Amino acid sequence: PLVLGIESSCDETGIGIVRGRTLLSNTIASSMEQHARYGGVVPEVAARAHLEALQPAIAAALAEAQVALTDLDAIAVTSGPGLAGALMVGVGAAKALAVALDKPLYAVNHLVGHIAADVLDAEPLEHPTVALLVSGGHTSLLLVRELTADVELLGETMDDAAGEAFDKVARILGLPYPGGPEIDRAATGGDPTAIRFPRGLSRASDMAAHRYDFSFSGLKTAVARWVEQREAAGEPVPIADVAAGFREAVVDVLVTKALDACARHDVPRLLLGGGVIANRRLREVALERAAAAGVTVRIPPLRLCTDNGAMIAGLAGQLIAAGRRPSTLAFGADSTLPVTEIQVAESDAA
Ligand code: ATP
Ligand code: MG
Ligand code: FE
Repeated sequence: PLVLGIESSCDETGIGIVRGRTLLSNTIASSMEQHARYGGVVPEVAARAHLEALQPAIAAALAEAQVALTDLDAIAVTSGPGLAGALMVGVGAAKALAVALDKPLYAVNHLVGHIAADVLDAEPLEHPTVALLVSGGHTSLLLVRELTADVELLGETMDDAAGEAFDKVARILGLPYPGGPEIDRAATGGDPTAIRFPRGLSRASDMAAHRYDFSFSGLKTAVARWVEQREAAGEPVPIADVAAGFREAVVDVLVTKALDACARHDVPRLLLGGGVIANRRLREVALERAAAAGVTVRIPPLRLCTDNGAMIAGLAGQLIAAGRRPSTLAFGADSTLPVTEIQVAESDAA
């Protein structure tokens, strides 16, 4: 089926068009620059930007895919989780399109969409698989027993998301937003072992009882303290070493927990997603340690790792293939939609 997907949960207005697992177009407009001076995404600014970007993004996606609105078999949209005001813009647009075109509508979960991104122009997912999603808004470890039917939350961040930690530490070091790429660059040439920063919640006892929650705010504070002490002593701050030490701590925690979860659940497959996957050190360490543990790793291309509409269309395509019915219009933006709700408001059997 030919599906158009709308994503507006954060600062990316994403429109994607897929035919089954084949990616036809993936248009992304980001309001990131408008948030730069605030050091993080401002919800009201993001929502306004979606309103302005949606129409041109839809037109661009249709043109790139060389299809017309009337060719579509279904519309898909992110219902949550995400910023309520931002989500509402996409939800409103999707409902309007579905009603006007008289096409089925699939309201889906953003996080599960990140997993579905990996099936586009690729082999179907092998089940079960462990998925680690790391972005500016999320740090979630999931057990995917069946993409369209059974996704379990193994753990998530108790405070800052991994990407958020990169952004905040960049700020401490006087580097611009978004901080991830800046820290990555600054860390090159730094010694990751020069300063050992804390690895939050990663003792064996923290991972007992099958919980894999994350905490990055203590790490951020540790970096801030370290820098303050240096400055108070009138000594220069070795930015490369601080960046490398911080990055190493984040990467270590993420990979350790993901592989522990693979071992604990006897799942030799790990899927990585979210914007933080752009981090070179994270990919390197994950691939290295996974290979040693006999775990295969799947990483979608980067433009499918960051927020996009193609993954939302892709997830709907998988739901349709699995025989799921469309959503009714009785849904809204759910900023805290749990990952277990893969699709919302599925209509009753006819
Ligand atoms: P959501 O949380 O809803 O997925 P988001 O817009 O916050 O949305 P993404 O766009 O997927 O998330 O990713 C942006 C985040 O990824 C930012 O926090 C950014 O600092 C981080 N990031 C980008 N590149 C890198 C990198 N090379 N290393 C570490 N973090 C990075
Ligand atoms: Mg983003
Ligand atoms: Fe996301």
